[in-house]
Amino acid sequence: MVFTKPLTWKCHICGELRPDANISVLTKPLVIGGRPCGQQNIRYCNDNPQCIKAVRDYSFFKEGKRLMTIDKAIEILELCVVSPFVIAKPDTKDAIKLGIEALKIIRRSRQPESPIKLATLPGETRE
Ligand SMILES: [Zn+2]
Repeated sequence: MVFTKPLTWKCHICGELRPDANISVLTKPLVIGGRPCGQQNIRYCNDNPQCIKAVRDYSFFKEGKRLMTIDKAIEILELCVVSPFVIAKPDTKDAIKLGIEALKIIRRSRQPESPIKLATLPGETRE
């Protein structure tokens, strides 16, 4: 017998895990330093007026504010891997992939069940 989990997505605005039908995606250009660097797909609750309103101004990369969480860094770095506008050299892509894996290890270390707790990184903010 096969049990399948219902498809859920995490809202990028409120952070809640929601059923597939209650999540929509807004695709916006990703602009870093005034230059378009690709696209970002922002998931939001399509039944929550606050999420619907906030998604219009939301970006994974907030210029000037210096807010960077591990989750956001992983999202941006994963976007860099698939965007030819951001990444030109194969070595850069490998370095980014390694950085993504390192951040995932740090994120796992902060789960309640992990015996090792790694500290906040320089430049990182907590949600
Ligand atoms: Zn939401």
